[in-house]
Amino acid sequence: MNVSEKILDFKKNLPEKCTLVAVSKTKPSSLILDAYQSGHRDFGENKAQELTSKFDELPKDIRWHMIGHMQRNKVKYIAPFVHLIHGVDSFKLLKEIQKQAEKVDRVIDCLLQVHIAQEETKFGLDEVEVMEILTGSDLADLKNIRIKGLMGMATNTSDEAKVLREFEGLRNLFDKLRASDLPPNAQMETLSMGMSGDFKIAITAGSNMIRVGSLLFGDRNYN
Ligand SMILES: *Cc1c(COP(=O)(O)O)cnc(C)c1O
Repeated sequence: MNVSEKILDFKKNLPEKCTLVAVSKTKPSSLILDAYQSGHRDFGENKAQELTSKFDELPKDIRWHMIGHMQRNKVKYIAPFVHLIHGVDSFKLLKEIQKQAEKVDRVIDCLLQVHIAQEETKFGLDEVEVMEILTGSDLADLKNIRIKGLMGMATNTSDEAKVLREFEGLRNLFDKLRASDLPPNAQMETLSMGMSGDFKIAITAGSNMIRVGSLLFGDRNYN
């Protein structure tokens, strides 16, 4: 199967309300264009520079997802076109996104990244910090920001029960926030969790957006 067929095949088995973000990091634009032929439009990248050059080269109706750690000094490059920033992990970063979004007269959709894995290395907020951002009086002032939900990455382990517990923890936080009073520019609609190795568990736990790379595009070569 070519990549376009793989994507169609993969989407056939997804729940209707689950959005696939095809993670194309390190892959050439030509391969993304092949994938685009399937009609798929949501693609994810984890580096601002790579994202910007692929945006330049590829059709403009692609919805580009920034899924990696977002450095504040790089926001300006992606602000003009990015569809959704998944990895927001501080209020300081939100303020920078606000500043750059205002400059280009856009409202930028963001997800708060929550730290659910055991590993130290994964970025993200804890539950208290998420609450502080969402209930603080400052968020409503960020008129060019819309918080659309949460994102998380589980521990990279073969212990599926552990992965399920982590995803369910995030789902519980999502549900709790959904039932609470949020500022007008924050809505709990999107729960981004699940990658090639754990998307099935994530869907069981209630994910409605999965980020899948290697399963569709093949293994990545970082040399
Ligand atoms: C690379 C990456 C993915 C996709 O990983 P695969 O295992 O290739 O599916 C998903 N989410 C994030 C944040 C990533 O950096």
